[in-house]
Amino acid sequence: MPLETKPSPWRIKHPIKIVNLCFLVVFLCSTLLTWREIVVLENGWTASQENRIQSIAAALDRHLQYSVDKLQFYRAAMQHSLTSPLANKRTDAALSAFARQRQSDDWQIHPGASRGLPLNGVSDEHVRQNPLLNRDEDRLQSEVLAALEFGSLLQLTDPQQDRQQRTFYTSRAGFFLSSNHPDGQENITARYHRLVSRPYFNSQTQHNNPERGVRWTHAKEATHQDDRVITASLPLDYQNQWYGVLAMDFTQGTMNNFLNEAMFRRDSGEILLLDKDFQVIATSAETLPARSGLNQRERETLTGEVSLHNEGGMRIGSRYVSWAKLNFFDGVLVRIYSLKQSLHSEFGSILLVLGLLWLLFSLMLLGSWYVIRRMVRNMYSLQEALRWRASYDSQTHLFNRGAFIERAKRIAARCQHQQMPFCVIQIDLDHFKGINDTWGHQAGDKALLHAAGIVRQALRGDDIAGRVGGEEFCIILPGTLLPDAAAIAERIRERLNSKEILVRPHTTIRISASFGISCAVLEQDYDFEHLQSVADRRLYQAKQAGRNRICSSG
Ligand code: GH3
Ligand code: MG
Ligand code: MG
Repeated sequence: MPLETKPSPWRIKHPIKIVNLCFLVVFLCSTLLTWREIVVLENGWTASQENRIQSIAAALDRHLQYSVDKLQFYRAAMQHSLTSPLANKRTDAALSAFARQRQSDDWQIHPGASRGLPLNGVSDEHVRQNPLLNRDEDRLQSEVLAALEFGSLLQLTDPQQDRQQRTFYTSRAGFFLSSNHPDGQENITARYHRLVSRPYFNSQTQHNNPERGVRWTHAKEATHQDDRVITASLPLDYQNQWYGVLAMDFTQGTMNNFLNEAMFRRDSGEILLLDKDFQVIATSAETLPARSGLNQRERETLTGEVSLHNEGGMRIGSRYVSWAKLNFFDGVLVRIYSLKQSLHSEFGSILLVLGLLWLLFSLMLLGSWYVIRRMVRNMYSLQEALRWRASYDSQTHLFNRGAFIERAKRIAARCQHQQMPFCVIQIDLDHFKGINDTWGHQAGDKALLHAAGIVRQALRGDDIAGRVGGEEFCIILPGTLLPDAAAIAERIRERLNSKEILVRPHTTIRISASFGISCAVLEQDYDFEHLQSVADRRLYQAKQAGRNRICSSG
């Protein structure tokens, strides 16, 4: 059977490496796809976070805008009243009550049942003590009437008079009017003093507010349950004179409620209203944290980003923070979403499922990689064993007859093509049958291996040897002329015959072989089969001549 000794073009050199590579590619692709999916999801999630905070900020802005509109309406009404003051019995009574009481420490003018809110005032003396205040006699009466008119308007337009959100007018002339009544414990002077000491009042001086527009301030409010109060204020001016300030207070509770209502779900993070110094004004959380829950470094990072962009989002540590600046208040609405909260959200569940799927897929891939790798390795070693067996003699590890003849023919053709000499040595062990018969088959095998070893040792670079019969060997020596071939054969013969082989304990034998040599140049024929038959004939002659010898002619 002719042997296919040339490697097949389809033969894969390193199948395990290819299996590893294939699995690695699949693993990388699946990881890449999962990662991409996560990135797309995350982008969607962050966009939704930013949209959410923007819509809350817009709603808060609308809420605040409505209040500002109301303040402007009250200012317009009071300015109108200053232009054309009412004059009737009721206003006359109010003015005479004012004239009577203005010197007292605390005074109050009631416009009559259900006809407006009471006007609360302090003494002329108290007004004189504060440089911000001024009881200008020329303007005083018309301002009292305008304030009373504002009081009845307030009663009509803002009937709740609650503690959370209140509207009031504080006059520089030592009186005020508020949508909620003064606390029982606090007297009018104390309350008036507190009203004019708060930042909103000072922020409305002509110097501090030259545009005379709305100002937002916030301060601690001692009499309110909630600590902080945000105040929207608008100055009342008439004929270039500053009369007082119309203002609206929003307690922290109001803002907290608003933020709470704005929350989509209880678990959807926490919303904070921060002032420009990053102090928390209001929060959607149950208890108000002292700060935004971020540490100094994190706050600095966030402040930097917020100062650059009016709205946006960023990851800070394990939290996602989105923000939107408010139009009507110098503050920022911040939404903080912790890792735990995001994992509990829809995004988190999708992420978790995606991660688990990837893990499952990777584990399955790992399992199949292990199995396939083992199968391929087994197949490969089987294939290698088969390939080896097809070419080599398993006993002597020399080429078997078929593989040897195949190669020998190729060498002969090459030598002919290159006009290079080559020799063939045919070897047959002497009286081998006798060894088997005398010392047993195992001893014969041992002698065979011994002989094969000596033959192999004698080979040079391009020489090849094969076992061509039971105890017959053939060597092909390319590039060699007869004398050199004879010398090599002699060396083999000599070694074979000189070494003792241990066939049984304490028993050694010596073997010998006969050699026949043929040379392509001398035979003028490069046909291997012909040269082998010539060498075989000479081998027979060597046997005839007494064995253990070389015959290279005849
Ligand atoms: P001579 O060549 O000197 O004429 O004598 P011989 O005894 O070697 O001749 P023959 O070719 O008749 O014998 C060859 C013997 O080799 C026959 C066979 O039993 C033995 N033989 C062939 N292959 C093996 C083998 O693989 N192992 C063993 N132990 N013996 C083998
Ligand atoms: Mg023989
Ligand atoms: Mg023999």
